[in-house]
Amino acid sequence: MNIFVWFMLISTVASVILLIYAIASHNSERSFFLILSSICTFLYVSGYLLEIISPTLDSAFMAVRVQKMGSPFFVLLNYLFIRDVYGEKRFSPRAYGLLFAIPVVNLFTAQAFPLVRLHYTRIEYFYNGLIANCQGDPGPVSYLAIAYSFVFVFLSLRRIIRHLKGTGRLQRNQSLCLLLSLLFPLFVNIYHNLSLDHLRLDLNPFAVSISQGLLLYSVRRQNLLNVVPLARAQVIEFMVDAFIVYDKDFRLLDANQAARALYPELNDLGPGEIMEKVKALEGERELRLEIDGTIRFYKITRTDILKNGKNNAVCLVFHDITDKENELKKLYGKATFDPLMNIYNRATFFDQAHFMLSCNKAKRCSYALLMIDLDNFKVVNDTYGHSCGDIVLKTIAVMVKGHFHENDVPGRYGGEEIVVLLENIPVRKLHAVVEKLRINIENRSISYQGKELKVTVSIGMTYSPAGNAHSLKDMLIQADSALYKAKNKGRNQIYFYDE
Ligand code: GH3
Ligand code: MG
Ligand code: MG
Repeated sequence: MNIFVWFMLISTVASVILLIYAIASHNSERSFFLILSSICTFLYVSGYLLEIISPTLDSAFMAVRVQKMGSPFFVLLNYLFIRDVYGEKRFSPRAYGLLFAIPVVNLFTAQAFPLVRLHYTRIEYFYNGLIANCQGDPGPVSYLAIAYSFVFVFLSLRRIIRHLKGTGRLQRNQSLCLLLSLLFPLFVNIYHNLSLDHLRLDLNPFAVSISQGLLLYSVRRQNLLNVVPLARAQVIEFMVDAFIVYDKDFRLLDANQAARALYPELNDLGPGEIMEKVKALEGERELRLEIDGTIRFYKITRTDILKNGKNNAVCLVFHDITDKENELKKLYGKATFDPLMNIYNRATFFDQAHFMLSCNKAKRCSYALLMIDLDNFKVVNDTYGHSCGDIVLKTIAVMVKGHFHENDVPGRYGGEEIVVLLENIPVRKLHAVVEKLRINIENRSISYQGKELKVTVSIGMTYSPAGNAHSLKDMLIQADSALYKAKNKGRNQIYFYDE
């Protein structure tokens, strides 16, 4: 026996092992087409072995028929297997029937005269000095079969490349293995059909068994029949959260659709390129990004991916918390501010004022507290209505807020009373500043339904010098008593608390 026969014998044994292996791993629905294509591979490879050891044209042609029981099918079967691997929907029984029509015609025409004429217009038994085998000139069915195979190789390649481009990053090895298993026989086929080998050796059977081996290798190594990794990859690809994996040198390893939408530059970044933007996020737990003119907030979850106990990659997940953040802001606003006056409500004023005064000892600040009350406000309500009263209150609140520093804390104390806690205002300036506010309010006319109305305020105030802080409670009592004096003295005036 020459080396080529040995070679094909080994391929045949390998195809038997692959078939047994495919059947043994039939733990999943997905292995169905793989088992069928392994059977076809076995028929094809063993038929070829029989062909090259046949002593006569007749027995060689018998062997060709055995090959033709397998060869018309495996490209189609592999395509169907790849579809299953990527979780595509199964065809209807009728569609399967149509898909198998041409391979079946191919199978039958190869079996006997005179139909085989459609297959080979001429067939000869040829000895090339190494082996004897059948060589035929292809007929119409052969051309049809070749075209058909190319269509399904093309469809399979397209499916795999689509996967590699999109969801495939996590399963690159799987898909590359599949790709190789398709390309290898394709090139051998092209090579053979162009008759580039003058020995006229058909290497297709060998290529097909290698391809089948690659398929089974990827099944075993890459868990192809297992739905879980694929499902996981698809979930990651299409999840709302952005997902980026990079190595310790900030080289991109993987990114899903959402991440590429967040950072479009990732689209142009090949795996292995350094990601400056992500580098800048080191240590951040939240991200604020302007996207299409709106501010969006993301919570960043960082997971170290360990291999052999070493940290060799990092996975970032960006969870969009914009809605939650906006909702929180709204709730915070409602809980913190007075909706009419848009200054702190009473509870927040107390919190803020306590906080400021508690810092007093360390900072050695002085404080002043003002209590502002509208004069005869009931009259405004009674004369112009409650909604007019509301507008007046709003206007006065804006004026008070605008009159003091940002650090000073104004709050709505009661109905039409505003309190302000001022920090570090020199006592000699205090009087002038507050008096100016009173005069501004007195001079301000407020328009309401074509009428201009004027209001005045009375202001009681008290002072707590640095290093000798009074409690908030005491200051409120003092300011209230000063306000009472201001009212008693005729309103529209300020009164400094004196003991
Ligand atoms: P005084 O000069 O003595 O302070 O006279 P006054 O009329 O202002 O008396 P008082 O402070 O007791 O009256 C408060 C009035 O403020 C009573 C209430 O109807 C009105 N008021 C309280 N809160 C609101 C509000 O949110 N909107 C409106 N429009 N009026 C309010
Ligand atoms: Mg009043
Ligand atoms: Mg009042």
